Amino acid sequence: MTNIHSVEGRIVSVNHASGEVLREFDSASESEIHSAVLRAHDAQPAWQELGIGKRIGILRNFLRTLHARKSELARLITSEAGKPIVEALLTEVVVVMDATRFCIENAYAVLRDQSIPHRSLAMKTKSGRLAREPYGVIGIISPWNYPFSIPATETLAALITGNAVVLKPSELTPQCALQLAELLHQSGVPEDVFQVVVGDSATGAALVNAIIDKLVFTGSVATGKQIAQAAAARLLPAVLELGGKDPMIVLDDADVEVASSAAVWGAFVNAGQACLSVERCYVHRSLCPRFLDLVVKKTKQLRVGNGMDPQTDIGPLIHERQLRIVESHVADALAQGARLLTGGTRLHDLGRNFYAPTVLADVTHAMLIMREETFGPVLPVMAFDSDEEAVRLANDSEYGLAASIWTRDRARGEALSRRIQAGTVMINDAISCFGISEAPHGGVKASGIGRTHGRFGLEEMVRIKYIDSDGLPGMKKLWWYQYGEAFSRQMAGFVDFMFARSLVARGRGALRMTGILKRKGKL
Ligand code: NAD
Repeated sequence: MTNIHSVEGRIVSVNHASGEVLREFDSASESEIHSAVLRAHDAQPAWQELGIGKRIGILRNFLRTLHARKSELARLITSEAGKPIVEALLTEVVVVMDATRFCIENAYAVLRDQSIPHRSLAMKTKSGRLAREPYGVIGIISPWNYPFSIPATETLAALITGNAVVLKPSELTPQCALQLAELLHQSGVPEDVFQVVVGDSATGAALVNAIIDKLVFTGSVATGKQIAQAAAARLLPAVLELGGKDPMIVLDDADVEVASSAAVWGAFVNAGQACLSVERCYVHRSLCPRFLDLVVKKTKQLRVGNGMDPQTDIGPLIHERQLRIVESHVADALAQGARLLTGGTRLHDLGRNFYAPTVLADVTHAMLIMREETFGPVLPVMAFDSDEEAVRLANDSEYGLAASIWTRDRARGEALSRRIQAGTVMINDAISCFGISEAPHGGVKASGIGRTHGRFGLEEMVRIKYIDSDGLPGMKKLWWYQYGEAFSRQMAGFVDFMFARSLVARGRGALRMTGILKRKGKL
C-alpha cells in the first residue's frame, strides 16, 4: 500500500480504497512542456479558423461518446479518486455532459459580434462593435477532487471559443485527464489542440512559465497565491478557482428534517473533499437540539467503504496528508471544548485512507475547524440567536466561495443572500449549483478571482476587441490640430451644451459652439 504519488519524476496513480498501484507515468520535463505549448500555438490558428459550427459538431461527437462510455468513465474516476460510483457518474460525467450541451447551445450567442451603440455627440460618425477572440493557448492546472469534471468543463469552454489547451492535471489523478484527452481526440479535436502534461507541482510551475496566453488554475489558496505571483511577474491573465469554507445557515423557520439531511450530504459528499462542501453549519438555537439528533442519527447510517460498491455512501480520502489535516482540526476542536457526537477516528479496518463521518457540536470561531479548510468528512455545528449573528458568523472568514441558507420563507432567504460574502448563495440547497452549466462558478475574497462555467466562463476564454469604424472617411476630425482661441471657446461651449445643469446655460453653450462645424483641421 502506498500514498506516494511522485517518486523521482515518476507519477503513480493509486486506488485509495485498495492501495493498488494502477499505473505509473514519467513526469513531463520542462522542455516537454515547452514543446507541448509550442505545438499548441502552431495548431491553434487552424482550430480557430475551423469556425464555431464545426467545433460544435465535434462537441456533439464528444457528447455522444461520453454518453456511450459513461459507466466505464465512472469506474475509472472511482478507481483513481475513490468517490462512490454514483457520485462519479452524477457529479463528474453528467456535469461534463451538461457543460457540453451548454457550449453547443450557447457558443454562437455568446461569441457573435455585438454592436455597441453610443451617445457621444462628438463621435456620431463612428459606430462600434465588440469582437471576441480566443486568447491562443490556455494552460489549465487542475486538482484531484473532481478529476474529470473540473478540467473537462474548463477545457470545453476554452476549445469551443477557439483556443488550444495544455492541461496539467493533479499528480493524484492523471488517468482521468488522459481519458478526457482520448475522448476529445476521438471526437475530432486535433491532438495538438488539446494536450495533457502529467506531473506534479514543478510541472505546474513550468506550465505557468511557458508561453501560454492565459491560465485557469483550480486548487488551494496557498498554491493559488504562488501562481498569482508568478503570473503577475509576466502579466499573464489568470482565473483562480480556490478553496472554500462554505457556511450553511439554518434559520428558525427551516424544515429541520430536510436541512439535517442536506447538512449530512453537503458535508460528507466526496468524503467532504468538495470545494463547495458544507464546512461550517450554523443552526438557530431553537432548532439546534433536534437538528443535532437528526444529523447524528443520519450520519450513523452512512456506509463507508470502497466506492466501487454501489452500497457505499462515503469512500476513502485521497491522501495521508488530507487525513492528517482532518485529524488535526478535530483534535484542535476537542481540545478547545467541542463535543464529538459521532466519528472522529480513522477506520483502519477498511484500509489506510478511511475516516469516519464526524459531527461536532459546541464549536467556536477560535477553532481551526471553523477557520481553515478541512476538506474532509466533518460537520461542525454552531448555534446562533439572530439572523444578524448568522450573517456576521458566515462572513467572518477569509473565504467566500459559496453559502447556503435554509428557510421556509424564500423571500427571507433571498434577502439574506444579499448580505453574504460569497460567489454563490443557494437557498434550500447546497453544492448542487455546480451542476447547473448556466450558473457561474467562482469565489470572492481568498476563494478566487474570475469565473468558470456559464456565459462568464466562456467570456473568460476570449479577449474583447472593440472595433471602431468611422462612417465619414473623407472628413478630418474637428478636434485635431491646430488649436487656438476660437477652438477653445467653441469647445467650452460644447461642454456646456452637453452637460450644463440649466437649459439656459445649455442654450448659451450651443451658441458659443457655432462655427465649430466650419472649422477644418489645418494639419
Ligand atoms: P493544490 O493547490 O495542492 O494543487 C492543485 C494543482 O496545482 C495540482 O495539479 C498541483 O500539481 C498543482 N500545483 C501545486 N503547486 C503548484 C505550483 N507551485 N505551481 C503550479 N502548479 C502547482 O490543490 P489540491 O490539493 O489538488 O486540491 C484541493 C484544493 O482545491 C482545495 O483547496 C479545494 O477547495 C480547491 N478546489 C477549488 C475548486 C473551485 O472551483 N474553487 C474546485 C476544486 C478544488
